[in-house]
Amino acid sequence: MKITRIETVPVTVPVDRRVGKVENTKGFRFQSHLLMVFIHTDAEIEGVGEVTASPDWSGETSLGAKTLIDQHLAPRLIGEDPRRIRHCMDRLAKTFANPFAKAGLEMALFDILGKSLGTPVYQLLGGAVRAGLLPLRFAVMPVGPVESADVSRRMAQEGFRTIKLKVGHDPLEYDIERLRLVREAIGPDVRITVDANGGWSVNDAILAAPYLEEYGVLFVEQPVHRLDLEGLAEVRRRTRLPVMADESVFTVQDAVRCIQLRAADIISVYPGKNGGLLNTLTIAALAEAAGVHCAIGSNLEWDVGSAAMAHACAAISNICVERYAADIIGAMFHTERAIETPLITTPAHVNIPHGPGLGVIVNRQARGIAPG
Ligand SMILES: [Mg+2]
Repeated sequence: MKITRIETVPVTVPVDRRVGKVENTKGFRFQSHLLMVFIHTDAEIEGVGEVTASPDWSGETSLGAKTLIDQHLAPRLIGEDPRRIRHCMDRLAKTFANPFAKAGLEMALFDILGKSLGTPVYQLLGGAVRAGLLPLRFAVMPVGPVESADVSRRMAQEGFRTIKLKVGHDPLEYDIERLRLVREAIGPDVRITVDANGGWSVNDAILAAPYLEEYGVLFVEQPVHRLDLEGLAEVRRRTRLPVMADESVFTVQDAVRCIQLRAADIISVYPGKNGGLLNTLTIAALAEAAGVHCAIGSNLEWDVGSAAMAHACAAISNICVERYAADIIGAMFHTERAIETPLITTPAHVNIPHGPGLGVIVNRQARGIAPG
């Protein structure tokens, strides 16, 4: 089997304002600009992938990823056998960074391999270690204290057992007040995690810690800047709170350094950020060997990216979804679906797709993902 053509289609999808505003470092975001990738073969099997581009997150944009793939990455894959996934990814490795673009291509390669064998991607990753529904955690954006409490209450009533509160955008006292009201609104049994997205100093995190403990916060995610792994390690040493590294760990090398510095109790992983499922497998294995847990994070994927995350969860035991609910909530944050069978059919849970490949059938009429 040979790759004959790689098609890249930019798509803009509205974020559902009823669910929540989506905050990035420059303000609220009401649209996701994504790139759908279709790899065509001479065997009439087509693979699909998603580039969940976000300039604030990885420095990538959908149009930048399109140019990169069209001009630099696709030519290295045309004529190759798409089932040789590691070989194909090695051919892309020479290009620095751009993890989401590479992951989008790798998703499509896995989709093709799975379809060619009539088996779901999680089987190709070693087989399922868990079945059934994956519990999700709902992210509450840095809106006001009362609105945060209202959204949290509504989501807890809808079935979410973990609420993730975005902090670090406002003064500490303001975040603590939000936390207090959210805890009051959802009661003692629903878990709360906080994600500062690097918005705190080491000192802020140390000052916040007693309050986070008082309100029963399960762990603090990325308290300090993504490049400050030493600072992350210091927060971990000087507080009793478990620390999750998210933005600090994109690559396998980041994970090695994070583990060496003992900077995190938990590493957030997912195929887009890691530059593909193969890297996610490696990071999860390194972490497991070092006694560090992993959890599935998110960059607000649409449906195809979300499916790839569900396969990773299904196949990787060290992605501890039973303990740390999954962030695969992009499928409910967008107003339109890219696929024919929705991934979320039970509130607060995501399904593991069981069809061949990624197990999703893309609706090419959705949002103008027109046939190329
Ligand atoms: Mg995060």
